[in-house]
Amino acid sequence: MYKKIIAALMLVMLICTGCGQKDEEENNTLNDIMKRGQVVIGVKTDAYPFGYLDKNDNYAGFDVELGKLISKKLFGVEGRAKFVPVTSSNRIMKLYSEDIDMVIATMSITKSRAQILDFSNPYFVAGQSLLVRKNSSVKSLRDLRGKKAIIVFGSTSEQSLRGAVQNLGIIGYKTYNDAYQALKQGKADAVVSDDTILIGYALKDNSVELLPKRFSKEPYAIAFRKGPESEGLIHTVNTVIAEETRNGNLKKILESYGIK
Ligand code: GLU
Repeated sequence: MYKKIIAALMLVMLICTGCGQKDEEENNTLNDIMKRGQVVIGVKTDAYPFGYLDKNDNYAGFDVELGKLISKKLFGVEGRAKFVPVTSSNRIMKLYSEDIDMVIATMSITKSRAQILDFSNPYFVAGQSLLVRKNSSVKSLRDLRGKKAIIVFGSTSEQSLRGAVQNLGIIGYKTYNDAYQALKQGKADAVVSDDTILIGYALKDNSVELLPKRFSKEPYAIAFRKGPESEGLIHTVNTVIAEETRNGNLKKILESYGIK
Protein backbone atom coordinates (compact mmCIF):
# COMPACT_ATOMS: atom_id res chain seq x y z
CA MET A 1 0.00 0.00 0.00
CA TYR A 2 2.73 2.39 1.12
CA LYS A 3 4.72 1.61 -2.04
CA LYS A 4 1.66 2.24 -4.19
CA ILE A 5 1.15 5.71 -2.65
CA ILE A 6 4.82 6.59 -3.26
CA ALA A 7 4.54 5.39 -6.86
CA ALA A 8 1.36 7.41 -7.38
CA LEU A 9 2.99 10.53 -5.92
CA MET A 10 6.02 10.08 -8.17
CA LEU A 11 3.77 9.73 -11.19
CA VAL A 12 1.93 12.96 -10.32
CA MET A 13 5.27 14.75 -9.83
CA LEU A 14 6.52 13.45 -13.15
CA ILE A 15 3.41 14.62 -14.97
CA CYS A 16 3.57 18.05 -13.29
CA THR A 17 7.23 18.49 -14.18
CA GLY A 18 6.35 17.64 -17.76
CA CYS A 19 3.51 20.18 -17.71
CA GLY A 20 5.85 22.87 -16.45
CA GLN A 21 8.36 22.22 -19.18
CA LYS A 22 5.71 22.32 -21.84
CA ASP A 23 4.38 25.67 -20.57
CA GLU A 24 7.85 27.15 -20.58
CA GLU A 25 8.46 25.93 -24.11
CA GLU A 26 5.15 27.26 -25.35
CA ASN A 27 5.70 30.62 -23.74
CA ASN A 28 9.24 31.34 -24.77
CA THR A 29 9.96 34.08 -27.28
CA LEU A 30 13.44 32.76 -28.10
CA ASN A 31 12.02 29.33 -29.05
CA ASP A 32 9.32 30.99 -31.18
CA ILE A 33 11.93 33.03 -33.04
CA MET A 34 14.12 30.00 -33.72
CA LYS A 35 11.16 27.93 -34.93
CA ARG A 36 9.96 30.76 -37.15
CA GLY A 37 13.45 31.27 -38.58
CA GLN A 38 13.08 35.03 -38.33
CA VAL A 39 13.27 37.71 -35.66
CA VAL A 40 10.76 40.57 -35.90
CA ILE A 41 12.01 43.92 -34.64
CA GLY A 42 10.17 47.22 -34.19
CA VAL A 43 12.29 50.20 -35.30
CA LYS A 44 11.77 53.90 -35.95
CA THR A 45 11.52 55.40 -39.41
CA ASP A 46 11.61 59.01 -38.20
CA ALA A 47 14.65 59.03 -35.93
CA TYR A 48 17.75 59.54 -38.10
CA PRO A 49 20.42 58.27 -37.50
CA PHE A 50 18.96 55.56 -35.23
CA GLY A 51 16.01 54.41 -37.31
CA TYR A 52 15.03 55.73 -40.75
CA LEU A 53 14.31 54.69 -44.34
CA ASP A 54 17.17 55.17 -46.80
CA LYS A 55 16.87 56.34 -50.43
CA ASN A 56 15.72 52.88 -51.49
CA ASP A 57 13.19 52.66 -48.66
CA ASN A 58 15.29 50.16 -46.75
CA TYR A 59 15.37 50.30 -42.97
CA ALA A 60 18.63 51.89 -41.84
CA GLY A 61 20.33 53.45 -38.83
CA PHE A 62 22.14 52.44 -35.68
CA ASP A 63 19.15 50.63 -34.13
CA VAL A 64 18.63 48.70 -37.36
CA GLU A 65 22.32 47.70 -37.48
CA LEU A 66 22.07 46.49 -33.89
CA GLY A 67 19.00 44.45 -34.84
CA LYS A 68 20.96 42.85 -37.69
CA LEU A 69 23.80 41.92 -35.32
CA ILE A 70 21.29 40.29 -32.97
CA SER A 71 19.71 38.34 -35.81
CA LYS A 72 23.16 37.20 -36.98
CA LYS A 73 23.93 35.97 -33.46
CA LEU A 74 20.64 34.07 -33.32
CA PHE A 75 20.82 32.39 -36.72
CA GLY A 76 24.49 32.57 -37.63
CA VAL A 77 23.61 34.09 -41.02
CA GLU A 78 22.53 37.52 -42.30
CA GLY A 79 19.07 38.43 -43.53
CA ARG A 80 16.90 36.84 -40.86
CA ALA A 81 15.64 40.11 -39.30
CA LYS A 82 12.28 41.52 -40.31
CA PHE A 83 11.85 45.19 -39.43
CA VAL A 84 8.48 46.71 -38.62
CA PRO A 85 7.91 50.48 -38.21
CA VAL A 86 7.00 51.82 -34.77
CA THR A 87 6.56 55.32 -33.33
CA SER A 88 7.21 56.61 -29.83
CA SER A 89 3.51 56.38 -29.02
CA ASN A 90 2.69 52.94 -30.45
CA ARG A 91 5.86 50.90 -29.74
CA ILE A 92 4.70 49.42 -26.42
CA MET A 93 1.26 48.58 -27.78
CA LYS A 94 2.79 46.96 -30.87
CA LEU A 95 5.08 44.86 -28.71
CA TYR A 96 2.06 43.43 -26.93
CA SER A 97 -0.51 43.32 -29.71
CA GLU A 98 1.51 42.28 -32.74
CA ASP A 99 4.14 39.75 -33.60
CA ILE A 100 7.10 41.91 -32.65
CA ASP A 101 9.78 40.17 -30.62
CA MET A 102 11.55 43.33 -29.47
CA VAL A 103 11.65 47.07 -29.92
CA ILE A 104 14.91 48.82 -30.80
CA ALA A 105 13.71 52.39 -31.15
CA THR A 106 15.68 55.11 -29.33
CA MET A 107 13.84 53.96 -26.24
CA SER A 108 15.05 55.14 -22.83
CA ILE A 109 14.79 52.98 -19.74
CA THR A 110 12.46 54.69 -17.28
CA LYS A 111 10.93 53.53 -14.02
CA SER A 112 7.38 53.65 -15.32
CA ARG A 113 8.26 51.78 -18.51
CA ALA A 114 10.13 49.16 -16.51
CA GLN A 115 6.88 48.33 -14.74
CA ILE A 116 5.36 47.02 -17.95
CA LEU A 117 8.41 46.07 -20.02
CA ASP A 118 11.67 44.22 -19.62
CA PHE A 119 14.80 45.96 -20.91
CA SER A 120 18.18 44.82 -22.14
CA ASN A 121 21.30 46.46 -20.77
CA PRO A 122 21.72 50.00 -22.13
CA TYR A 123 23.56 50.29 -25.46
CA PHE A 124 23.77 54.09 -25.76
CA VAL A 125 23.19 57.20 -23.64
CA ALA A 126 21.56 60.30 -25.12
CA GLY A 127 20.27 63.45 -23.42
CA GLN A 128 17.38 65.81 -23.97
CA SER A 129 18.02 69.18 -25.55
CA LEU A 130 16.21 71.82 -27.62
CA LEU A 131 16.00 72.27 -31.38
CA VAL A 132 15.23 75.90 -32.16
CA ARG A 133 15.08 78.15 -35.23
CA LYS A 134 18.38 79.95 -35.90
CA ASN A 135 18.56 83.30 -34.12
CA SER A 136 15.87 82.25 -31.69
CA SER A 137 15.77 84.08 -28.34
CA VAL A 138 15.45 80.65 -26.70
CA LYS A 139 18.93 79.71 -25.48
CA SER A 140 18.00 77.32 -22.66
CA LEU A 141 15.12 75.36 -21.21
CA ARG A 142 14.32 78.27 -18.87
CA ASP A 143 13.83 80.63 -21.82
CA LEU A 144 10.77 78.58 -22.77
CA ARG A 145 8.83 80.22 -19.94
CA GLY A 146 5.52 81.50 -21.30
CA LYS A 147 6.36 80.02 -24.72
CA LYS A 148 5.41 76.90 -26.65
CA ALA A 149 7.32 73.64 -27.02
CA ILE A 150 6.80 70.69 -29.32
CA ILE A 151 7.10 67.11 -28.11
CA VAL A 152 6.47 63.73 -29.71
CA PHE A 153 3.68 61.73 -28.08
CA GLY A 154 4.90 58.81 -26.00
CA SER A 155 8.42 60.18 -25.58
CA THR A 156 10.21 60.95 -22.33
CA SER A 157 10.15 64.70 -23.03
CA GLU A 158 6.37 64.59 -22.92
CA GLN A 159 6.81 63.58 -19.27
CA SER A 160 9.84 65.68 -18.35
CA LEU A 161 8.41 68.95 -19.67
CA ARG A 162 5.21 68.81 -17.66
CA GLY A 163 5.70 71.16 -14.74
CA ALA A 164 9.37 71.79 -15.62
CA VAL A 165 8.84 75.30 -17.05
CA GLN A 166 6.24 77.84 -15.97
CA ASN A 167 3.40 78.70 -18.34
CA LEU A 168 4.69 76.43 -21.03
CA GLY A 169 2.34 75.50 -23.85
CA ILE A 170 2.99 71.97 -25.11
CA ILE A 171 2.03 70.79 -28.59
CA GLY A 172 2.34 67.11 -29.46
CA TYR A 173 2.94 65.29 -32.76
CA LYS A 174 3.12 61.64 -33.69
CA THR A 175 6.47 61.72 -35.47
CA TYR A 176 9.74 63.65 -35.30
CA ASN A 177 9.34 64.74 -38.90
CA ASP A 178 5.98 66.35 -38.08
CA ALA A 179 7.51 68.00 -35.00
CA TYR A 180 10.36 69.43 -37.07
CA GLN A 181 7.96 70.74 -39.76
CA ALA A 182 5.84 72.42 -37.07
CA LEU A 183 8.94 74.19 -35.71
CA LYS A 184 9.82 75.39 -39.22
CA GLN A 185 6.29 76.69 -39.65
CA GLY A 186 6.61 78.72 -36.45
CA LYS A 187 3.94 76.80 -34.54
CA ALA A 188 6.15 76.76 -31.43
CA ASP A 189 9.55 77.88 -30.17
CA ALA A 190 11.42 74.60 -29.76
CA VAL A 191 11.26 70.85 -30.25
CA VAL A 192 12.29 69.09 -27.05
CA SER A 193 13.78 65.60 -27.37
CA ASP A 194 16.99 63.59 -27.43
CA ASP A 195 19.96 65.47 -28.86
CA THR A 196 20.89 62.45 -30.98
CA ILE A 197 17.59 62.62 -32.87
CA LEU A 198 17.41 66.42 -33.10
CA ILE A 199 20.99 66.76 -34.38
CA GLY A 200 19.94 65.00 -37.58
CA TYR A 201 17.66 67.94 -38.45
CA ALA A 202 20.28 70.55 -37.52
CA LEU A 203 22.85 68.82 -39.75
CA LYS A 204 20.71 68.87 -42.86
CA ASP A 205 18.99 72.24 -42.37
CA ASN A 206 20.95 75.29 -41.23
CA SER A 207 17.82 77.32 -40.50
CA VAL A 208 17.51 75.32 -37.25
CA GLU A 209 20.03 74.60 -34.50
CA LEU A 210 20.48 72.26 -31.57
CA LEU A 211 21.26 73.91 -28.24
CA PRO A 212 24.37 72.28 -26.77
CA LYS A 213 23.18 71.86 -23.17
CA ARG A 214 21.68 68.48 -22.23
CA PHE A 215 19.22 68.39 -19.36
CA SER A 216 18.48 64.68 -18.96
CA LYS A 217 20.10 61.29 -19.28
CA GLU A 218 18.44 58.91 -21.72
CA PRO A 219 19.87 55.38 -21.55
CA TYR A 220 18.70 53.57 -24.69
CA ALA A 221 17.83 49.90 -24.30
CA ILE A 222 15.95 47.21 -26.19
CA ALA A 223 12.43 46.54 -24.90
CA PHE A 224 10.69 43.16 -24.52
CA ARG A 225 7.37 41.88 -23.22
CA LYS A 226 7.65 41.65 -19.48
CA GLY A 227 7.98 38.20 -17.95
CA PRO A 228 9.81 34.88 -18.01
CA GLU A 229 8.96 34.33 -21.69
CA SER A 230 11.57 36.98 -22.58
CA GLU A 231 14.40 35.79 -20.33
CA GLY A 232 16.28 33.64 -22.84
CA LEU A 233 16.03 36.28 -25.55
CA ILE A 234 17.21 39.07 -23.25
CA HIS A 235 20.20 36.98 -22.24
CA THR A 236 21.22 36.53 -25.89
CA VAL A 237 20.64 40.21 -26.67
CA ASN A 238 22.76 41.30 -23.69
CA THR A 239 25.52 39.00 -24.90
CA VAL A 240 25.42 40.68 -28.32
CA ILE A 241 25.53 44.17 -26.78
CA ALA A 242 28.52 43.17 -24.60
CA GLU A 243 30.41 41.46 -27.45
CA GLU A 244 29.80 44.18 -30.01
CA THR A 245 30.80 46.86 -27.51
CA ARG A 246 33.98 45.00 -26.62
CA ASN A 247 35.04 44.43 -30.23
CA GLY A 248 34.38 48.08 -31.10
CA ASN A 249 31.66 47.38 -33.70
CA LEU A 250 28.96 49.52 -32.06
CA LYS A 251 31.38 52.43 -31.79
CA LYS A 252 32.28 52.05 -35.47
CA ILE A 253 28.63 52.14 -36.52
CA LEU A 254 28.00 55.24 -34.39
CA GLU A 255 31.04 56.93 -35.87
CA SER A 256 29.85 56.15 -39.39
CA TYR A 257 26.86 58.37 -38.53
CA GLY A 258 29.06 61.09 -37.03
CA ILE A 259 28.15 60.22 -33.42
CA LYS A 260 30.91 59.94 -30.84
N1 GLU B 1 14.59 58.40 -25.76
C1 GLU B 1 13.35 59.07 -25.60
C2 GLU B 1 12.23 58.10 -25.31
O1 GLU B 1 12.46 56.96 -25.12
C3 GLU B 1 12.99 59.96 -26.77
C4 GLU B 1 13.15 59.32 -28.11
C5 GLU B 1 11.86 58.66 -28.57
O2 GLU B 1 10.83 59.33 -28.70
O3 GLU B 1 11.94 57.50 -28.85
O4 GLU B 1 11.11 58.47 -25.25
